[in-house]
Amino acid sequence: MENNLLVLGGTTEATALCQSLSAAGIRGTVSLAGRVLRPVRQPLPQRVGGFGGAQGLARYLTDHAISHVVDATHPFAAQMSSNAVAACADANVPLIALTRPPWQAEPGDDWTHVSDIPGAVAALDRPAMRVMLAVGRMHLAEFAPNPQHFYLLRLIDQPDAPLPFPDYEIVQDRGPFRIASDLALMRAHLIHLVVSKNSGGTGAHAKIAAARQLHVPIIMIDRPAIPARREAHSVAEVLAWLAHTGTDRGV
Ligand code: NAP
Repeated sequence: MENNLLVLGGTTEATALCQSLSAAGIRGTVSLAGRVLRPVRQPLPQRVGGFGGAQGLARYLTDHAISHVVDATHPFAAQMSSNAVAACADANVPLIALTRPPWQAEPGDDWTHVSDIPGAVAALDRPAMRVMLAVGRMHLAEFAPNPQHFYLLRLIDQPDAPLPFPDYEIVQDRGPFRIASDLALMRAHLIHLVVSKNSGGTGAHAKIAAARQLHVPIIMIDRPAIPARREAHSVAEVLAWLAHTGTDRGV
């Protein structure tokens, strides 16, 4: 059976993987959730939108005769990743996740670890500060309990709904970001505190390095748990796995 991959994307790493797959002439489709108005142009044919849970994804895999799934979603896309584990087991399609290690605190870093978004909200229950809130557009409403802060928000698209806090500024931009510009941004807005997901990788790391240089503390949101699956840490590892993993269902 010829390869026919499904890449679960939405990250810089997924786009790089699709470039390599396309260059190697490997057939596949990249799937995006559809959260961003103008997604980055993909080097493979793309489909957009949810599958309808794990069952919907299992049906998609069968209906489209998918030979392999590569989960290259963001480490915080836990629902999609869990669905991929369940659906691939159900449809008997080999799965690998392209993952990046979490960032580790280095000398000079001042991190407070919290386990999730509610943990970050609880940690912000303190007198007003100037906060760079780097949690993405989808979670902003959860920060309503702490309207006392000024929030600097860097977003790809404008929020869909009015924000539940009065004092904020939106900078519309898309990664990868550079340390020099993140230093300038944090200085210009007199940022005292950063709230960040522990995304890992290089594209969003500039704010972490900038915070270290400016002695700005970080509330670091640890990653959600995802069921065990095979993992690769580089495009080369994914390609090697593809070369050695049978494409006949059940192999
Ligand atoms: P999520 O909470 O795990 O997913 C929620 C639902 O969205 C999934 O159950 C699925 O719907 C749909 N979905 C998610 N990723 C999809 C994909 N690649 N293709 C098709 N459907 C998808 O995910 P999320 O955190 O909202 O992230 C959404 C997308 O943004 C992902 O592709 C991720 O790589 C990207 N992203 C996320 C973050 C982040 O911080 N979470 C940061 C950067 C990029 P159904 O159940 O209907 O299939």
